Amino acid sequence: MRLSRYFMPILKENPKEAEIVSHRLMLRAGMIRQQSQGIYSWLPLGKRVLDKVNNIIREEQNRSGAVELLMPTLQSAELWQESGRYDAYGKEMLRIKDRQERPMLYGPTNEEMITDIFRSYVKSYKNLPLNLYHIQLKFRDEIRPRFGTMRSREFLMKDAYSFDLTKEAAEHAYRKMFTAYLRTFSRLGLRAIPMRADTGPIGGNLSHEFIILAETGESEVFSHKDFVNFDIPAEDISFDDVATMQAVFDKWTSVYAATSEMHDEEAFNAIPEGDRLSARGIEVGHIFYFGTKYSEPMGAKVQGPDGKEHLVHMGSYGIGPTRLVPAIIEASHDENGIIWPASVAPFDVVVINMKPGDDACDRISQIVYGGLQTVGKDVLYDDTDERAGTKFATADLIGVPFQVIVGPRSAAAGEVELKNRKTGERETLTVEAAMNKLAGR
Ligand code: ATP
Ligand code: MG
Repeated sequence: MRLSRYFMPILKENPKEAEIVSHRLMLRAGMIRQQSQGIYSWLPLGKRVLDKVNNIIREEQNRSGAVELLMPTLQSAELWQESGRYDAYGKEMLRIKDRQERPMLYGPTNEEMITDIFRSYVKSYKNLPLNLYHIQLKFRDEIRPRFGTMRSREFLMKDAYSFDLTKEAAEHAYRKMFTAYLRTFSRLGLRAIPMRADTGPIGGNLSHEFIILAETGESEVFSHKDFVNFDIPAEDISFDDVATMQAVFDKWTSVYAATSEMHDEEAFNAIPEGDRLSARGIEVGHIFYFGTKYSEPMGAKVQGPDGKEHLVHMGSYGIGPTRLVPAIIEASHDENGIIWPASVAPFDVVVINMKPGDDACDRISQIVYGGLQTVGKDVLYDDTDERAGTKFATADLIGVPFQVIVGPRSAAAGEVELKNRKTGERETLTVEAAMNKLAGR
């Protein structure tokens, strides 16, 4: 992408409304724009990061055996009257009427709708286990939307829903998602700690929140330090193996971790003082097993091997991609801007042409830009007429992992400077050596 033809509205000034660093940097880097309170557009640079986050989530959901579909944002109130949540949900639910005066709502979550889909088609235990998910916008009329897309009113959620014949099978489904979540957050460059959680309005009896530690987090959390060293389950782990999933779950729930709602002072104080971690955190995922809470009022039953009808046992599993983007920034930035983990960076490399119009600079920049694209890299080419200082500041701000700096003197000698955004290391290399290095050869 040539920067001169791109749309990346960088702000020079620090926006006053931004209280936390991720919000400030997302606005300054031209990633998002607030359209009304708690409702955002994702501008091109932000959209690229969001897509990468969604793809990692999707790959790990698929790997665990979940199946993607897409449900609408607008739902009919009838379904929610069936489950009893239409009245219970309160003011967070945005209620709408269509032209026939039919009550509708902008979905804050999808348990009812997925249960309706399930009961319409699945009649036998032979079609179980089943886990269906989508990545779709939600709306919750939060009292205090704040921190940009960290807590917005309209936000994206990956929500998955599992269906099983028995409680035991549903607990295995829960542990599969638990494992998929560990892998997902790790691939996003985050260390998320699963914490025993309250089940809240979704209801049920087994629940974990996945929390990443950050000073600006809204939750108060307490845990054992050991989590920092636990191994992440491997890519080829067997999700269908009950004992394997149990072992992952047992390991990751073997030491103390709880949010303030579930905090047990006595258990926490039993941890040696040096191993206690009392911090603030950001909830990036939340999983629940809630048994027959929805299948019962909504009549979602399957025929079991015994020939009888059984209510299905369900769980639901949420991740917030539009919250994850600022959460990643909270965890990875410096005074000059964002430092993206490679897996979610909007571009892999930015080529900075220091003197557009100079033959050597244009030629070398073009070679690097074109060459890296042919090996599958996402490359941003800064071909604008801005001052060198502005170009460097922009490249640092948007946090692309590598910068290739093409200046007139080195270009004439067939060389470029390669800068690692994270470490700040710079080295002068021949064009070929720089390209080989960036292509991973
Ligand atoms: P919170 O406690 O932060 O209000 P929640 O418990 O209401 O969140 P869940 O219903 O568990 O949220 O939703 C699943 C995931 O969706 C959360 O873990 C979070 O990543 C994301 N999420 C929830 N509310 C918001 C929001 N207002 N803005 C952005 N993401 C959100
Ligand atoms: Mg939650």
